[in-house]
This record gives sequence, C-alpha cells and structure tokens, in this order.
Amino acid sequence: MINDIMDLHTHTIVSGHAYNTLYEMARAAADHGMKVFGSTDHAPGGIQGTCNEVYFKNFKVIPKHLFGLRLLMGCEVDIIDYQGSVDLRESTLSLLDYAIASIHPQCYTCGTIAQNTAAYLGVLKNPHVKIIGHPDDGRFPYDHDTLAAAAKEHHVLLELNNSSLHPTDGRPHAIENCRDLLERCMHYKTPIILDSDAHIAEDAGNHRRAHKLLQELNFPEELVVNTSIEKLAAYIPAVLKQDEEE
Ligand SMILES: [Zn+2]
Ligand SMILES: [Zn+2]
Repeated sequence: MINDIMDLHTHTIVSGHAYNTLYEMARAAADHGMKVFGSTDHAPGGIQGTCNEVYFKNFKVIPKHLFGLRLLMGCEVDIIDYQGSVDLRESTLSLLDYAIASIHPQCYTCGTIAQNTAAYLGVLKNPHVKIIGHPDDGRFPYDHDTLAAAAKEHHVLLELNNSSLHPTDGRPHAIENCRDLLERCMHYKTPIILDSDAHIAEDAGNHRRAHKLLQELNFPEELVVNTSIEKLAAYIPAVLKQDEEE
C-alpha cells in the first residue's frame, strides 16, 4: 500500500448533514496518520442546511497547523450549469486555500453527456478549483476520456472518492465509473487524489476502498498526490505556507 498522508475532502457539522467539529475532524485525521488535512464544507448555493457564505470569509482566524497536521481550509462548491459555473463568489473563493468542484443532484439539472462534459470542462478553467469531486456519479454521465485529458492539461486533480466506493453509497455505478476513469488517467498520466469525503470523524483519512481499487488496477503511485506534500504543492501551493509567514 502506498504511503498516504493527506485527506482534502471532508465535512464538519456546519455542512448540516455531518456530525463533528473542525477540531474533532482534524484530531481524528491526525490519529489516522494524516499529515495534511483539508476541510471542505458545502457551499451555500443549494445543499440544504449548510452554512452561510460568511463561514468561508473568516478562515483567517484558523491556525495553519493543528495536532501536528497542516490544516487547509477550502470549500466543496457546486457546479450549477453546463458552463461550469459554481455557487460561491470569486471574492470568497479567493480567500480559500482551494476549492473542490462537484456535481450534486440538489444543485444541477442533468444534461446530455455532451452538456455534462461541458460543465466539467468549464469548471476546470476556474483557477480556484484544484480538485474535481467524486467524478463517478452515474446519475450525471459524461465523457471520461475527455475529462481525464483536460484535467491533465488544466492542472486539476481528479478525485478518487472513498465514500463513493462504499456499496451503500448513493452514487450509482460509481465503482465501474472509477475503474474506467482511472484507466483513462493512466493513459493520459493524469494525477489523482484520494479523498474520504468524510462526514464523521471516524472516516477522516479513511481511503481503504480507494487503495484496494488502485492495487487492483496496478495504478502508478507517481500519479497519486497523496504520498507527498511536494506533489500536492504543485496544485495547492498554500500547503507550504507557515504560520509565521503571515
Ligand atoms: Zn455532504
Ligand atoms: Zn460532494
């Protein structure tokens, strides 16, 4: 198994359907061997019960290091149309360490394969978006080959989402879709990131199903950013920031 030291897609109690605080999540991630922990609550656009935009505007008060971890503060934004627009303003996005862009059924009307592919291609051009979240949801079919090639070109990470691989997860055909997308990533040498999408502390840093799938596919370790801070820094330079530099 590869040395996996980061988890950049997690939710706290402020998302409205997750159950632990930021400190509880970070503590659990540290206990589970993580060195970099990213918190990415849902943007205020369409997920019922999540926080207001002001939550994302006050990240300056949060320490960069906690429990021996480098703590990154981001947001999981929603892709809301076929141009790849997202539901957080530029002025707020610019305050984050990074954004994950995902399609959720509450915030997006499924189009044709061409329209869904266009939505992903559009969001890749957003300079704040560093990760495409769970691009495995069978409810929103798109062209895997096109996304794998374009993500490489636009220098955005594709996510292998451990929660999607859970047999009772609500994203249909996620396992087949992940397999197919990972094959395309191997073809284009497109880097990926393993994330938990944890909504509870117990799951912080849990990428077990993702590791199993990578082993099955013989997926090359050099394409997985989770193994080193330097690899991640090529996508999210903020990871190298120290508290004293502020
Ligand atoms: Zn959620
Ligand atoms: Zn999501």
